Amino acid sequence: MITTIEELRRWSRQQHNSQKRIGFVPTMGALHDGHLSLVKTANQCCDSVLVSIFVNPTQFGVNEDFHQYPRSLEDDLRLLQTVGSPEVFVPNVTEMYQTGFDVSVHVGGVSQPFEGKIRPTHFDGVATVVLKLFLASGADVAFFGQKDFQQVCVVRKMVTDLNVPVEVVVCPIIREPDGLAMSSRNKYLSKPQRSQAVVLSQSLILAEKMILDEKIRDVEIVRKKIRSKIETAPDMKIDYIAIADPKTLHELTIINFDTVILIAAGIGTTRLIDNVIITTTMS
Ligand code: AMP
Repeated sequence: MITTIEELRRWSRQQHNSQKRIGFVPTMGALHDGHLSLVKTANQCCDSVLVSIFVNPTQFGVNEDFHQYPRSLEDDLRLLQTVGSPEVFVPNVTEMYQTGFDVSVHVGGVSQPFEGKIRPTHFDGVATVVLKLFLASGADVAFFGQKDFQQVCVVRKMVTDLNVPVEVVVCPIIREPDGLAMSSRNKYLSKPQRSQAVVLSQSLILAEKMILDEKIRDVEIVRKKIRSKIETAPDMKIDYIAIADPKTLHELTIINFDTVILIAAGIGTTRLIDNVIITTTMS
């Protein structure tokens, strides 16, 4: 386990000196099968795999769950042994943000709507920590989950605009058997909340059916269907149902060839997000 940036740089140099391609999976820990799927994909594409575990304070708003966020390092390290024992980077907050730290990476456009509206400082924190981790790790390829679709858009835009020499690979959403997208925050859900949470993925399946089978192209009809499905769960409070172009995140009025549906809702004090990408034949 590596805990300092200096040590991480040394490790990275060693890998590159032996012609190894570094695959990197950034995480905040409390690992589950979603995270492990990224590590498995990295194992297939790269010679050396690095996982970071860092609950990044700068991506949490002042009233968010930074202090409560689940931390389970021992379990995480055990789980990582089941997927090829990648190298693990576990810095503490002062290692990542030394006294006087005063830089923020701001990505425009794709970071503004949806999550960006509700969590105005979130993506600056994400872009800043991801760039720091890319630079310290010398990653050649980085693996992200589609689960955080807008985050992927922000990271891609940062990589493109700053010419960061890291290839970004997006991996599919891993779900519980009933369809709920796996998330470290699912641990917060009480039993009744957990059983209501399934409406999110169910609403996306309904929307996908409407678009692909019934050929419905009017965004408002699809949005209404999603809304009424989510509202069958009495405690679920919708933050947004966005139907957008997956490249620009501009909202659509008519379903496009490629469309992403992004939803976010709160239940109790927990926020859940989910999404689906739908490709139509435009027939
Ligand atoms: P986090 O620890 O929540 O910051 O997530 C670390 C990485 O794992 C991010 O790229 C997430 O998108 C990804 N991830 C989280 N949950 C899932 C999931 N259910 N399926 C696939 N990837 C996921």
